[in-house]
Amino acid sequence: MSILKDKFGRKISYVRLAVTDRCNLRCQYCMPAHGIDIVDRKELLTFKEMYRLTRVLSELGVNKVRLTGGEPFVRKDFVKLLEMLNYNELLDEINITTNGALIANHIEQIEQLKVKSINLSLDSLNRQKFAEITRRDVFDEVYKTLEKLENSKLDLKLNMVVQSGVNTDEIIDFVELTKYKNIAVRFIEEMPFNGTGQKNVIEVWDYNKIFQSIENKYDDIDKLKDKRSSTSRNFKIDQYQGTFGIIPAFTRTICGDCDRIRITSTGLFKNCLFDDGVFNVRDFMREGADDKDLKNLFLSLVHKKPKDGFIAEQERNSDVSESMSTIGG
Ligand code: SAM
Ligand code: SF4
Repeated sequence: MSILKDKFGRKISYVRLAVTDRCNLRCQYCMPAHGIDIVDRKELLTFKEMYRLTRVLSELGVNKVRLTGGEPFVRKDFVKLLEMLNYNELLDEINITTNGALIANHIEQIEQLKVKSINLSLDSLNRQKFAEITRRDVFDEVYKTLEKLENSKLDLKLNMVVQSGVNTDEIIDFVELTKYKNIAVRFIEEMPFNGTGQKNVIEVWDYNKIFQSIENKYDDIDKLKDKRSSTSRNFKIDQYQGTFGIIPAFTRTICGDCDRIRITSTGLFKNCLFDDGVFNVRDFMREGADDKDLKNLFLSLVHKKPKDGFIAEQERNSDVSESMSTIGG
């Protein structure tokens, strides 16, 4: 069986699939207040196309899929897509990244499927600040989802984008959440995927600064052994139930073990978060490609995967400024 491997010997086993470019929130670090120019519905991949792409990829060794967006639960009948993917016996894990505002009523249904973990985005524990960041007043809904997920059998990861001058004063509050909750809190470096590009900030909150701010408070931090392709460096405060991690998304010190590819909601294949899309697989399918054509295409595309996110960025035709909502994070 052919498997997806790049020229650096990295085996590709994870696809991140954005199921829509639409979102019910307007997070400041992701898009402008007026939102982004969303595409016409017929430009979005259909569920059948998503199923087919995932199937073909799974026959090439991809065994994990993450569904993201925009907000995946904004896509009509999103749970049906989950049910369809559940039929693919080659997939070991289906994971979801969500803002949590619309999912509380779907959790029991999702628990019945092969869904392993939910990444819940939550950037503030303060209701008003949450509303300022997301430009929507839905903290209560999201917190309800958090509590429901904690009591479900799904693994829960809480993602907080660390924004200079906005929520850095809450880093310790988020670490403290792991005292009694068996959850994984992850701090993400902010990137310029916000619809306008690089911001000027007074202080850069990168991996080291985030870690130092935690180290200044605790003297009993245990380093955990990270999975090879983990996007976060993970830690635990001694005696705390949960863990915390830092994702060096912008300083890009994790690229060496990358095992992932991305497909945007319009079918743009991406070898790296920082490339500007290397091929439109939707058009290729709609022009009549069969599964063998798709397999050959993926094998050759992955071969061009850049060594790291810096090389990918250098090879772009434009600066990084697109909204993360169009890429999927
Ligand atoms: N709407 C869902 C959500 O927010 O979880 C899924 C899509 S969102 C684009 C995926 C992830 O990207 C979220 O964890 C979000 O916080 C993160 N993200 C979005 N814009 C970002 C940025 N500029 N820098 C770092 N992370 C970002
Ligand atoms: Fe929507 Fe997620 Fe972007 Fe926030 S981060 S605007 S929830 S896509």
